[in-house]
Amino acid sequence: MVWYARKSSDDGKGMNKGILFNEGEHYSRTVEHAKKHIESLGLVWKEELKTIDTKDEWFYFTDWEELDEEEFYDFDGNAYKLCQNCKGVVKVIVEINLCEKCKTYI
Ligand SMILES: [Zn+2]
Repeated sequence: MVWYARKSSDDGKGMNKGILFNEGEHYSRTVEHAKKHIESLGLVWKEELKTIDTKDEWFYFTDWEELDEEEFYDFDGNAYKLCQNCKGVVKVIVEINLCEKCKTYI
């Protein structure tokens, strides 16, 4: 199973690299998605690209090498967390989740 640190705001798929907007307000998995997002805001992609690495930067390309144990995803965007007791992977369905491996609620 491949795990992803973030989830695309455009198509809900897991992602480990992509484009981060406004400190995490929006995540895009591909340049095409990022371009569409910018255009949906009434902005021009080529113009906004010029803000990268300037004081006006509000989005940039990045990747995530580490997963947050409290929240990570599969490619379909389902959320998971690690059981605090045995470190087993638990799919997040509701606020309280049962680890089937050790029968602990996390
Ligand atoms: Zn467990």
